[in-house]
Amino acid sequence: MSRTLVRRAERLLGNQRRAAPSWLLRARAPDLSGGGTMFSSGAVHFRPSPRAAQLEARLSNSSTPGSGGFRRFGAVAWNFRGLVHPAAIMKARHFRFLFTSLCLLSASALAQNDNDPAKVRLKVNEVAAGVSMIEGVEGFAGGNVGVSVGDDGVFIIDDELETMSPKLTATLGQISKKPVRFVINTHWHGDHTGGNAALGASGAIILAHDNVRQRLSAAELEKAKDKVAAKPGKGLPVVTFAEDVTLHLNGDTVHVFHVPPAHTDGDVVVHFAKANVIHTGDLFLSQGYPFVDLGSGGNFEGFITAADRIIAVANDTTKIIPGHGAVVGRAQVKAWRDTLDQIRQRVKKLISQGKTLEQAVAAKPTADLDAKAGANFISPDKIVEAAYKSMTANAAPAKAAAAGAKPH
Ligand SMILES: [Zn+2]
Repeated sequence: MSRTLVRRAERLLGNQRRAAPSWLLRARAPDLSGGGTMFSSGAVHFRPSPRAAQLEARLSNSSTPGSGGFRRFGAVAWNFRGLVHPAAIMKARHFRFLFTSLCLLSASALAQNDNDPAKVRLKVNEVAAGVSMIEGVEGFAGGNVGVSVGDDGVFIIDDELETMSPKLTATLGQISKKPVRFVINTHWHGDHTGGNAALGASGAIILAHDNVRQRLSAAELEKAKDKVAAKPGKGLPVVTFAEDVTLHLNGDTVHVFHVPPAHTDGDVVVHFAKANVIHTGDLFLSQGYPFVDLGSGGNFEGFITAADRIIAVANDTTKIIPGHGAVVGRAQVKAWRDTLDQIRQRVKKLISQGKTLEQAVAAKPTADLDAKAGANFISPDKIVEAAYKSMTANAAPAKAAAAGAKPH
């Protein structure tokens, strides 16, 4: 790595330290292996800029000792255009790698103002009568927000990064003068629950799966040994459920249902029966492979089950709001499901042939699917790894149970 590049990276990092929201500097990676400590400041996505990609490419090509981290960083996140998940890329065990990661994130962020909430604009898209979606443009705001407005008032699904709270409140105020009565969290990640504290403080009732409250609670964050402050009391979900809950509001029947562990162990799908809209949270992304947060109890195979559940309640005219990306129809979810099922079958076969994780990844079983799936922050290798680990983790206890089980 040239001295100029180092200086440039340091300068960018320095700038970013002053401008970055707390989650960036605190972010730690989820342990994609499913063991060890767990990232907990939220799953946050970036769009890499050409400038950052260029810088990264130069860093990746460096032959400086210790540059393996650069290459790994590149492999995980930066060979792709689209969403980048710092949570997934900042598994930094060494200072050098962490430093480099921050530099690169800074380069990207600085180039596109991703981390400056002042620069991010919130755009409202009409999805169906009475239902709209808020998305961040010109920067990263967090996950897509679903908004229902009607005679009974306003309720929303997910509430972006904490730093976006003032803008989210202002945007909601433009849609309706009525206060937000309810917030549904699709899962616990910080880019979907960051607005909880502000909304809770202003009187909204937050609903989520039992495990979302658990994962947002102080004890859990303590366990993760992360420096992220626990959600203040008002940011925690106050109504939790194990399976499902139904809201009868604004002339619609809104079914919020839990699915088996997939993205995390607290995922829900939100289905507006009358408006014919579904909000999937991160159980579906409009581009690329899914992020299996193994450290949060996620499981690759759960995404297929979740997609089946979504497809079952959707029809040809259903509007599907993904966790990130553009609104899609059922056909896209079906295609996603089929791709994941192919990956499942191929990885399963490799496991049954006795291949190790490294051998399975090296076999590149997704090679013919990658281009069609599109790119985001999850590399083909990562999805194979997640599938392999999900399936082998399931197999071990099942075998043990079978061996020791008594018939009854
Ligand atoms: Zn997420």
